[in-house]
Amino acid sequence: MNFEDLKKKYDKDCVAVIPVHFGGHPCEMDKITKWAKKKKLLVIEDCAETCGSYYKGKKLGTWGDYGCFSFEEKKILTTGDGGMISTNSSSKIKKIRSLSFHGWDKDPLTRFNISKSKSKKSNKHWMYRISNLGYKYNMNDLMASMGIAQFKQLKQFNDKRKILIKRYLEGIKNCKGIIPAFPYSLKQSSYWMFSIRCAKRDHLSNYLEKKGISTGVHLVPLPLQPLYKKFKSNTPVALKTWKELLTLPLFPDLKLKEVDYIISQVVKFDELFLSRNRKTQN
Ligand SMILES: *Cc1c(COP(=O)(O)O)cnc(C)c1O
Repeated sequence: MNFEDLKKKYDKDCVAVIPVHFGGHPCEMDKITKWAKKKKLLVIEDCAETCGSYYKGKKLGTWGDYGCFSFEEKKILTTGDGGMISTNSSSKIKKIRSLSFHGWDKDPLTRFNISKSKSKKSNKHWMYRISNLGYKYNMNDLMASMGIAQFKQLKQFNDKRKILIKRYLEGIKNCKGIIPAFPYSLKQSSYWMFSIRCAKRDHLSNYLEKKGISTGVHLVPLPLQPLYKKFKSNTPVALKTWKELLTLPLFPDLKLKEVDYIISQVVKFDELFLSRNRKTQN
């Protein structure tokens, strides 16, 4: 999210700003939160592509009013699907918990615990009140047990990702036509993706596929999606940049020798198809 552009896009109908820490790269939360406060906007951090990282010494997901995390099968932590919301407000969290469970004021375990507590005034453990219009968004116990186990490994996961990204950055630094997609800053980081930019993105993707290397493209901008076309605003940088984006494999079980193989093929492509062009242009 470009902070200067964000300010330009603000109008009086705005109620919230949702900074996306894209690929795990932190938005400028100090500037954004300060500005949003002045404009009386809520700040909802989309932390789906990061978990456990810091921006200027403060954890991502704790800068805004809310932080939203994703535990989809492919994210930094996973419970198969599901996620987590963080907020510093106990009244907000109470409401969120209620909304996630049909709008009930107490879930079954809470009711059970109250009925077992010594100070109980009634034995109506079955009693609950519905005062919010709720959803069925609660996480089940099986998934949550996976999440608790995953949490214990979070630092280890992030440390491993850091080592792999360092290897990639070092490996591609002399490429003529391929650069890292983000200004990767690896101190206290949690990057979900390792992405690169290349003018011959599709060619590179096909080349790597033939070498047994799977890649991805994150993501196709919303203004290009049929459903959202009518809401589109001026986003020239996204519309230009996405055509060059390519995501390389990154996951904690990836081996250094596998990264080295991927790097060797990326470098080979650069030498074959990008370096020469660059020289003739010069
Ligand atoms: C994965 C992802 C989401 C969606 O997360 P869910 O857990 O499926 O709700 C939202 N935003 C970003 C940036 C993501 O990468």
